[in-house]
Amino acid sequence: MTARQATQRQDGEETFRDSLGIVSEEGKRRWLFPKAPSGRFHRARIAVSALLLVVLFGTPFVTVDGHPYMVFNILDRKLILFGNLFGPHDFYLVGLAVITLIVFIILFTVLFGRLFCGWVCPQTVFMEMVFRKIDYWVEGDYRQQQRLWQSPWNGKKILRKGLKYVIYAAISFVIANTLLAYIIGLDKLRILVSEPPGQHPGLFGAVIGFSALFYWIFSWFREQACILVCPYGRLQGVLLDDNSIVIAYDHVRGEPRGKLRRDRERVEGDCIECRQCVEVCPTGIDIRNGTQLECINCTACIDACDTIMDGINKPRGLIRYASTASIAEKRGFRWTGRVIAYMVVLAALVLLLTFLLVQRAPLDVTVLRTPGMLFQEQPEERISNVYDLKVINKTFDGVPVGVRLLSPAGELRIVGDAMRVPSQGVAESKFLVILRQSDLRAMSTPLVLGIYADTTLVQQVSTSFLGPVRKTQ
Ligand code: SF4
Ligand code: SF4
Repeated sequence: MTARQATQRQDGEETFRDSLGIVSEEGKRRWLFPKAPSGRFHRARIAVSALLLVVLFGTPFVTVDGHPYMVFNILDRKLILFGNLFGPHDFYLVGLAVITLIVFIILFTVLFGRLFCGWVCPQTVFMEMVFRKIDYWVEGDYRQQQRLWQSPWNGKKILRKGLKYVIYAAISFVIANTLLAYIIGLDKLRILVSEPPGQHPGLFGAVIGFSALFYWIFSWFREQACILVCPYGRLQGVLLDDNSIVIAYDHVRGEPRGKLRRDRERVEGDCIECRQCVEVCPTGIDIRNGTQLECINCTACIDACDTIMDGINKPRGLIRYASTASIAEKRGFRWTGRVIAYMVVLAALVLLLTFLLVQRAPLDVTVLRTPGMLFQEQPEERISNVYDLKVINKTFDGVPVGVRLLSPAGELRIVGDAMRVPSQGVAESKFLVILRQSDLRAMSTPLVLGIYADTTLVQQVSTSFLGPVRKTQ
């Protein structure tokens, strides 16, 4: 609560909340039974959530050329992003992508507050759009849920609670399997579910562990994940400023608040103290107290208040997306130096990342003249140099790699067996380049080598050849 908003309360008192909305005065957890939300924002969020859930559960089934579309195999340090394979050798790209993402999150939060939490965060989507909906479906609206909570255990309560928790467990199991599909890939998951658990005790334990974790989060921990644990929520205090767009109560228009009375002309502000915005809040706060740590931007209070405003013939938007500065100063959005600075940094990072991704070749080839060896004299007035060849294969399949001398004319001999580089593996070899001494015009002669994957030229590498120039008589 901000001091400015505190002093504008109808009773004139400055009241500051020094405890969480989900904790009672006795220090115990206050179990929340939010009223079922409805309205245009809620309908839009249902549509967005449905799309996100389809993407979340459908993506593991998507393949490109027989390979998964997305895998986050942190165990084997292997990522497949949009069908492209990234391994340990791409660590610099992953690091840069993470830094870019962090800057994007900071910029996004400075501009739009916790918009992500309300619309996209998996915790909110599952909690509010899946598990909370099950509550309403099985136990009824918030008043019925409260009555059931307070009632003694009887047949009806056992049946409803039992049904609810069985559904919770089933969904948690599906989420755990989906999470595992993202980590180990769908093929390995299929093997896991088709074979006895004893053959894969680690993975089987992971499925059970994750299922239990999700069940615990959504059945008991609930909104505490956002309020007590989520680091992003904690960051709001340092990222938000008065110009950030948040879900805000227009205290200029709403205060002084007062009950609607038909027996006299209204002298108060537009807030009729109906508390519908509080009843629907899934984190148990009163948004009229200002921007608060617990607010996940779920929009339920906007819809609730808009419904009230419609009912009393007042314009919608007493609670709306707005910055606290725009409400206090009655003005629109304003670009700040802070936002522009973040945008410049983000643009630079995105450009750099794009450049590196475009430049990324399927084979990473290094050719170096073998250290400590200048040149060797060969029969028939020829000179040879020895080179080290190192190839990193960034593709899904093993590749037979060959190297040929493209210019100048000469001979290239691979030392040892033909080279085959395994998927995501590294292979090293040596080769000799042999040139006629009469072709050398300087101590250092430029060479162009062709690197072939099977019979396809995939890369040209430039290096140099050292050898003495033949003295003319
Ligand atoms: S829903 Fe609107 S009118 Fe009702 S208490 Fe909340 S802000 Fe005031
Ligand atoms: S204050 Fe409004 S937007 Fe924030 S969590 Fe509560 S209902 Fe959702």
